[in-house]
Amino acid sequence: MPRGLFITGTDTEVGKTYVAALLAAELAAAGCRVGVYKPAASGCAVASGDGPCPPGTLVSGDAVALWEAAGRPAELDRVCPQRFAAPLAPHLAARAEGKPFDLELLRTGLDYWTARSDFVLVEGAGGLLCPLGEREMMADLAADLGLPLLIVARNALGTINHTLLTIEAAERRGLPIAGIILNTPAPRPNDPSVAGNPGEIRVHCSHPILGEVPHGGPLPESVRRWVRGLAG
Ligand SMILES: [Mg+2]
Repeated sequence: MPRGLFITGTDTEVGKTYVAALLAAELAAAGCRVGVYKPAASGCAVASGDGPCPPGTLVSGDAVALWEAAGRPAELDRVCPQRFAAPLAPHLAARAEGKPFDLELLRTGLDYWTARSDFVLVEGAGGLLCPLGEREMMADLAADLGLPLLIVARNALGTINHTLLTIEAAERRGLPIAGIILNTPAPRPNDPSVAGNPGEIRVHCSHPILGEVPHGGPLPESVRRWVRGLAG
């Protein structure tokens, strides 16, 4: 199994990119050549030309964030080869725009990064059961890429259910789970579940809860040590 992680979320907007970028930066700072890959992105904006993308092209903000965090390795265009404008599941966005959606490229696009990296971080779109067409889902892509899952969960009311559903879907498909990180994507001053969520998930789950990332905060030391250990 190549060294790397497939980062999935319990929902969209739980902070997959935020956590993946922190991991990429941690690995790059440790001298690791980090490859970052987002097989497909929707909801992309048109580049104005101010950033690293040519004006008029579709920009995946996630791809740019991952690429910057990894130290701008190789070509940005290869981080996310399939980009769509509509904020829909990627194959639906492609259809809405009359563009092809290349299931093979979702898989082969990673080869570019495995060839030039010590460690690869792949960020899925949506969660494990986000459809990638009529026949397959993100979980099928994760299985084919052969990387263990890192599950990013929102540390908020409802996350016990979302996290356990994601774990059940992964286990049912035989996908290995490296661990779970709880992230707080927005301040939650009045959510009394936040402090207890990690412990409550642990009661029902045999996979490691690696740590919690506070809103806008850094990786906890436990996660930093863990990911550096994975990269060897
Ligand atoms: Mg993202």
